[in-house]
Amino acid sequence: MDGAVVTINAGSSSVKFALFRDGKRIESGAGGRLDDVAGFMSEVGRLLRAHGVERSLVGVGHRIVHGGSRFFEPVIASGEILAELRQLMPFDPEHLPAEIALVEACTRVFAGVPQVLCFDTAFHRDLPIVARMLAIPRKYFDAGVRRYGFHGLSYTYLMQELERVAGAKTTRGRVILAHLGNGASRASVREGRCVDTTMAFTPTAGLVMGTRSGDLDPGIAAYLARSEGMSAEQFAAMASSRSGMLGVSETSSDVRELLEREKSDPRAAEAIGLFCFQARKWIGALAAGLGGLDVLVFSGGIGENSAVIRGRICEGLEFLGIDLDAGRNERGEAVISREESMASVRVIRTDEESVIAEAVCRLIET
Ligand code: ADP
Repeated sequence: MDGAVVTINAGSSSVKFALFRDGKRIESGAGGRLDDVAGFMSEVGRLLRAHGVERSLVGVGHRIVHGGSRFFEPVIASGEILAELRQLMPFDPEHLPAEIALVEACTRVFAGVPQVLCFDTAFHRDLPIVARMLAIPRKYFDAGVRRYGFHGLSYTYLMQELERVAGAKTTRGRVILAHLGNGASRASVREGRCVDTTMAFTPTAGLVMGTRSGDLDPGIAAYLARSEGMSAEQFAAMASSRSGMLGVSETSSDVRELLEREKSDPRAAEAIGLFCFQARKWIGALAAGLGGLDVLVFSGGIGENSAVIRGRICEGLEFLGIDLDAGRNERGEAVISREESMASVRVIRTDEESVIAEAVCRLIET
């Protein structure tokens, strides 16, 4: 594909971007805070000028965290599409308003250049009904309250890469993908299709994360409303931004920092302990859903970089066929399980941007 493509990856706290030329990544960067659209656009402008590609920009690709039950395939943004996306805002007030603002800003600044939207929820489109439904009155399911699942662009990349390095036979097996970053989730995949995932209606569900609680007893919201007069919005903000490892440690959401402090601060040790215990439990749950396990893939900032955490998560999972090789794990090799391990354990560096860039190229060529 000739020409330049910019990808924009707006997470919950920061925006990352990358520039691709002729299908290859030539630069990546982080553009600061999500609410500073003007600052971000000037960063992107600087990037294009620095590489002399302002005139050869052929498309901009956007990561959109929530596509609801409406969007699955990547799509070129139009007024109508954005109006539909705006209707999904109540589903994801944390991400969608800022993501839509970025699409609108790019539409203005790069007039005539297609803006391609790529949805994180799309990977989970085939969730079986037992994984998709939440056990509350059915009328809410009919109104869209269900498990959607997130981190889909990362999972798409991990499955592509797994096929490239281990072959199609492996990707048809029973696979658990672990995306462990500030946000953390798992997806279980069989025959190449996602059959379960830990995040649900919002990215707050599932595993313990940096600042998100993961799964909670729903009774807690009512208790805090009664005891402290906490509103639903305050509860959502607490569970999303002040909980997880930050909430437990009272100091940091950052695993590297907590690991440095765990010997001297019991709260840091408990935060890491909780993270690893819950992460291990979820492997068991997802493997039970799959009827066994052939491959476990670690990814995301924690999964890619921390041998200590990978080791602790896998401790005691020999009954599932997971037998880690300490040396390989320490060196962060592509395969970190022993030769004789029934399930293979891999580390794959994820790349959401390349999935977005590929989608842009595909769409503008058709
Ligand atoms: P995001 O979800 O925001 O994209 P990342 O995927 O970059 O975040 O993951 C960030 C997390 O990865 C942080 O908790 C950070 O401490 C952790 N991390 C990165 N490198 C290491 C490392 N070498 N050891 C332990 N944790 C690490």
